[in-house]
Amino acid sequence: MITLEQCLFWDQEDELKHLRNEFSLPEGVIYLDGNSLGARPKKALSYADYVIRQQWGEDLINSWNKADWWGLPIRLGNKLGQLIGANPDETVVSDSTTLNLFKVLSAAVKIQAEQHPERKLIVAEKESFPTDIYIIEGFIDLINQGYRIELIDGVTGLDQILSTDVAVVVLSHVNYRTGYLYDMAEINQKIHTNNALVIWDLCHSVGAVPMALNETNSDFAIGCTYKYLNGGPGSPAFLWVNPKHLQKFWQPLSGWWGHQKPFDMAQHYEPANNIRRYLCGTQPIISMSLIECGLDIFLKTNLEKIREKSLKLTDLFMRLMQQECAAYGFELVTPTEHAERGSHVSYRHAHGYEIIQALIARGVIGDYREPEVLRFGVTPLYVGFEDIWQAVQQLKQIMQNNEWKNEQYLVRAAVT
Ligand SMILES: *Cc1c(COP(=O)(O)O)cnc(C)c1O
Repeated sequence: MITLEQCLFWDQEDELKHLRNEFSLPEGVIYLDGNSLGARPKKALSYADYVIRQQWGEDLINSWNKADWWGLPIRLGNKLGQLIGANPDETVVSDSTTLNLFKVLSAAVKIQAEQHPERKLIVAEKESFPTDIYIIEGFIDLINQGYRIELIDGVTGLDQILSTDVAVVVLSHVNYRTGYLYDMAEINQKIHTNNALVIWDLCHSVGAVPMALNETNSDFAIGCTYKYLNGGPGSPAFLWVNPKHLQKFWQPLSGWWGHQKPFDMAQHYEPANNIRRYLCGTQPIISMSLIECGLDIFLKTNLEKIREKSLKLTDLFMRLMQQECAAYGFELVTPTEHAERGSHVSYRHAHGYEIIQALIARGVIGDYREPEVLRFGVTPLYVGFEDIWQAVQQLKQIMQNNEWKNEQYLVRAAVT
C-alpha cells in the first residue's frame, strides 16, 4: 500500500526537486503534458525580452554578427547534442521535425540508391506518429522511382521485413501513444546487418531518456524541442547526421543557409562541408533563441538522474492506478518493463476523452490520443511524487462520482 506520506518522503529525498524552481507553472496545476508541450522555463520571459529589446530593438541587423544569430543553429545543436550522445558539430537546430524528416529521408534513400539500388522499401510503423508516414508517402510520390512504404508492427514486424528489400527504416525511439521504447543499439545492429539504414525520430525520447546516437552507430536522427526540452510552442526542431554519411549527399531543400559560402551570393548551389548543409533558409531567431533556456536547465543535471526519477514516477503512477483505480476499466498500454518504457504512461478507456476533460477541469493536465488513449507525461524536472499521488486521487474521484458523464466533457475541441 502506497500512502501520501510515502510520496511526500520521496519528494523530500528527490535530488532534482530544486529544478522545479526553474519553471513557471500556474498555481494549483499538475502538469502531466510536458511530453506534448513542455512548461515554460522562468528565464524564457526575461530572455525573450532581451532578444527582442536589445538584440532586435537596439542592435538591429548587427545582431547577425554581434549576437551570432547566424551561428545559433549550430550553437544550440552543440548544446542539444550533449543530450543525445552526439559529438560537437553533428547536430543542427532548424525547421520542424516534419521538414527535417524530409531532408534526412532524402539523404538516406539517395545513399541507398547508390549502394543497394534494388532496395525499394521504406519502412515505418503502423503506430508511427502520422506526420512521419505522410512525409514518406509524399517523398515517394515526388521522386517517383518505384519506392514503396510498408508499415510494420513493432520489433516482430521489423524482424520479418528486414529479410526483404528494405532501404530505410524510420522508427520512433519512444512511441508517442504507448510509450514503448526501442533498444537503439540492438535495433541499429539488426538494421545494419540487413544493409538498411535507420532514421530515429526522437520527439518523445529527447530529454527523457539517455541515448548514444554515435556510440550505437545510428545513421540519422530528428526530433523536436518543444516537448521534454521546453523550448516553447513551435520552437524549431533538430537534426543529427552520422559524420560518416555527411559528405555523401546534400539534401534537396538546398537553400542559401546550407551553402558553403552563403554571402558570396553565387549563382549555383554548393553545399557546406559540415552539418550546416542541412539548413535551408532564414530561421525564426526569436523562437529559436528561447530553446537555450530549456537546454541550460538540462545541463545543470544529467540524463541518468532524470531517467532514474522518470522511472520511479512512472512506476508510481502505474502502482497507484492499480491500488486506487482498478475498478474503473483502465487498460494499461505502456510496457511495465523499464527497458521498454519512455517517460509517459498511457491507459486505454472507452470514455478516455471525457475523462481527460474532467481531469483538466480539476487542474490535472494530461491528454488524449485516438483511439481511446489517456496519456500522462512525466517530466522529472518539474513533476514530483506528490503530484502523481494527487493526479491519481483526482482521477479516482472523477470515476467514483461519474463526473466525466457531464455532457460538457463530450464536446470535442478543434485540438485534442
Ligand atoms: C510531436 C511529434 C512530431 C511533430 O512534428 P512537427 O513537425 O513538430 O509537427 C513528429 N514526430 C513525432 C514522433 C512526434 O511525437
